[in-house]
Amino acid sequence: MVEKVKDSSFYSNLSNIIMEISKVNDLDSAYKTLSKISSGLIDVDKEFFFKISEEDKVQEIFRTAYDADIEDMIIWSNKNLDVSIFPEENFSYVFVPIFSLNTKHFVYTAITKEDDFSNEMMMLFRIISFMTGNLFENLVLYDKILNKNFIIEKNKNFLNSILNSTNDSIVVFSENQEINFKNEKYDNLDEGLQQELNSIIQRTLDTEKNQSEEKEIEDKFFSIDSNFLEFENEKNVLLVIRDISGTKELEKMKKIDKMKMEFLSMMSHELRTPLSAIKAYSDTIIDSYEMLDNETLMEFFRTIQSETNHLSRLLNDLLDFSKLELKTLHLEKTEFNINELIQEICNTLEEFSNNNDVEIIFHKNESIKVFMDRTRIRQVIFNLIQNAIKYSDKEKEHRFVEITTEIKENNIIIKIKDNSIGIKSEDKEKIFDKFYRSDTSLTYEIQGTGVGLSIVKDMVELHGGTIELDTELGKGSTFILTIPRGVENE
Ligand code: ADP
Repeated sequence: MVEKVKDSSFYSNLSNIIMEISKVNDLDSAYKTLSKISSGLIDVDKEFFFKISEEDKVQEIFRTAYDADIEDMIIWSNKNLDVSIFPEENFSYVFVPIFSLNTKHFVYTAITKEDDFSNEMMMLFRIISFMTGNLFENLVLYDKILNKNFIIEKNKNFLNSILNSTNDSIVVFSENQEINFKNEKYDNLDEGLQQELNSIIQRTLDTEKNQSEEKEIEDKFFSIDSNFLEFENEKNVLLVIRDISGTKELEKMKKIDKMKMEFLSMMSHELRTPLSAIKAYSDTIIDSYEMLDNETLMEFFRTIQSETNHLSRLLNDLLDFSKLELKTLHLEKTEFNINELIQEICNTLEEFSNNNDVEIIFHKNESIKVFMDRTRIRQVIFNLIQNAIKYSDKEKEHRFVEITTEIKENNIIIKIKDNSIGIKSEDKEKIFDKFYRSDTSLTYEIQGTGVGLSIVKDMVELHGGTIELDTELGKGSTFILTIPRGVENE
């Protein structure tokens, strides 16, 4: 409680005033404090807080009734910016303008029965006038800042909710690769991918240019757009990461569709070629049988036989392919010597390799017993050796395909190495896809359907094995089969 000025010293009143004012922290309590300080100095019967507009319109802030006659005095006090006392018959008006350097806030008006206003009291009211003025100025400014902060916060929340509602992960990295901003989606992003972002961030910072790339992580595809941002002299990188697995899947399906169509037209062509040959040779035999000598006849029969074999291989491929697709292919495992099987394949392909000038090198060593589906494994190895010969490099003087076998733990490892045309690194995985044929002019010259390696891979996997490829374009390829040797009654 502020002591009455009459009963206490000027300085203790002053310190009380300062203390009361220092406790104020909002506009509401500022009015109450002013009222309290005033009542500490004089006996206040009634009090008003008048706001005066620029056009000198008077308005009581708390909308209480007042005598309109005093309006002129209020306006005068507001202009004069000094504490003034207007004595009436039984009471006095005390006008205290509350102002600061920039603003006239309001005029505090008290009605009091007091009639003795000492110099000290006037001085104290002047101090109140000035200090409360500054207090109001600060509180108004503070309110404005709060309001501004609120608006900024509101805008920030609005932007955040927009950034959180997108399906993209958005993140901003500083030059030190620390996160300055991220949306919620970024937090849910695969950790493996988060770790893969360093290189694109660094590249963006180094080049100061936007970058974009695609990444595949655990069967999912992501597009990453990296944007260089310079903000207040600081370098930042804004990343927008989008899951494009769906689009990729669609692209893949479209591609498979296209490949299927190509496969169909290729298959028709592949079937027609041996069929035409068979027809032409058999027609000639029937039409000119008597004119043909035995040797020519035999040559014709051989051609018919070889074309029939080719035709039957194509049809078998087709049949296997559809069985694998329908998952109706079952293995019939028996025990056999794998080296003997490979030797047999080499013998069968001898003529083909001679025609293509490719040497087959197979060091048939000790017998290795395996328990597998002999027909299917024959098909796998046959296909790989045949490909090595088919895709041999005409530019090379000595062309070869070398086959080795070895046992490692419970697996048999078969390596089929060639120095043929090799495979582009980007085709390394794709060549095992159905219908895929490498996009090179060399491949176009060679007959094929693009299903061979996909069948090979499926057959190896059906045996619980794997197929790896080590290749270099122009140098050659090594296909490495690792297949469990298998045990009886498996
Ligand atoms: P095809 O031989 O009928 O085209 P494959 O599935 O057997 O089908 O092979 C797929 C593609 O892989 C081939 O078109 C060829 O481009 C490539 N390829 C396969 N084997 C080899 C090899 N040994 N050397 C080079 N390219 C090969």
